[in-house]
Amino acid sequence: MESCRVAPAEHSLRSADFTFGMLLLQRARVPADVLPDPIASPAPDPLEPSVLCDITIEGSKISSVARSTGSGRVSNATDLAGAMVFPGFVDAHVHLDKAHTWNRAPNRSGTFPEALETLARDKVNWTREDLLRRAAFALACAWEHGTRVLRTHVDTWLPWGEVNHAAMHELRGEWSGRIALQTVPLTGIANYSGPEGDAIADLAMKYGACALGGWSPMTTELPRQLDRLLAIARDRGVGLDLHVDENGRPGEEVLRTVAEAVLRNRFGNPVVCGHCCSLSVQPIERQRSTIALVREAAIRVISLPLCNLYLQDRRGQEFPRTPQWRGLTLIHDLLDAGVPLACASDNVRDAFHAYGDFDAAEVYIQSVRLAHLDSRLGASVRVVTSAAADIVGLPASGRVAPGAPAQLVVFPSRSFSEFLSRPAPGRRLVDGETIREARPPGFDELK
Ligand SMILES: [Zn+2]
Repeated sequence: MESCRVAPAEHSLRSADFTFGMLLLQRARVPADVLPDPIASPAPDPLEPSVLCDITIEGSKISSVARSTGSGRVSNATDLAGAMVFPGFVDAHVHLDKAHTWNRAPNRSGTFPEALETLARDKVNWTREDLLRRAAFALACAWEHGTRVLRTHVDTWLPWGEVNHAAMHELRGEWSGRIALQTVPLTGIANYSGPEGDAIADLAMKYGACALGGWSPMTTELPRQLDRLLAIARDRGVGLDLHVDENGRPGEEVLRTVAEAVLRNRFGNPVVCGHCCSLSVQPIERQRSTIALVREAAIRVISLPLCNLYLQDRRGQEFPRTPQWRGLTLIHDLLDAGVPLACASDNVRDAFHAYGDFDAAEVYIQSVRLAHLDSRLGASVRVVTSAAADIVGLPASGRVAPGAPAQLVVFPSRSFSEFLSRPAPGRRLVDGETIREARPPGFDELK
């Protein structure tokens, strides 16, 4: 079966009600940081880092982007009148196999341990039909919100787990040409050092995984286990996408341990670390030296702000209480150090996060508010567009540029202020030469 490490994303034209020989979008207000440099300069106002553009689409690609000359009488032109236009979103870290289990498997304390226990009990329900039903609904939501690339982690605990990978592989085929769906196995990092280590990796690769993944608490065995995992990944020509330090305990330094392992093993394939929450509660000198190691090891970081906000700083024994920290990793420090960083949905309507809708626009807007990304508003859009695309290895996506996939999301907002103030439900979607109203499925469609 084909692995997504070698398969370029397919961005073909979605079947359309109306197809023209070319589509010209006039007066599209595009975030400057997803535009090519010549169009984005001179740098726009930091409070309104966008450029009014005319975008030409031919087939499934953007053929030209230029500063707008205003609306003109051009056949087949659509005047967007200054509406905000983003590239199709890249949601770099989700869990389709857990999604939409909340109603039957809620987390009453909101704690991490109860989330683990609750979903472990729920797995008896994870048949092929159940997985396809929930994940297909999730993909339909993501699609109608404008997401065009999505990476999901897939629970893998042998002998259990093949049904998950098979279902995701089936959906990858069904959604090919619309959403590029990537998969990463999620298991204990220690399992790769056990007798089933190769089998876990082989199972994931058989169903097209693009990286190996896992999570681990801090243990004395972790460095040796990471050496083994890196060897397994190197043998298969893939990188890693790990869950690390999803807690507020200063002694948890899996991120640092991963960086040391990457450098020790001279591992050259891409390594992604998600969450990295405990970095924020460590002494500042330790933070700086860990971030320097992360930078040196070329590790990319994915922050999951909505899930962190929900799950972090819960204390079951004191329930209910007011949370005292947001659970975020050091987003600004990592960006200042030049570490590639994305923000993503993570869990949606399951025991790890009760809410969510696979809407990358919501993730972005909340990330701006939670992490004060307003202080770098221009670059902030990259966390769900170009930076996220680079991290998942699809650098043509998440951009509004000649040659990029013709995948755009048009919002009614006419400025960043309007966009960030009123997350608008009424968006339009451009795929190829088609522009249409988005129609997210209702929850009643989740049978
Ligand atoms: Zn996750």
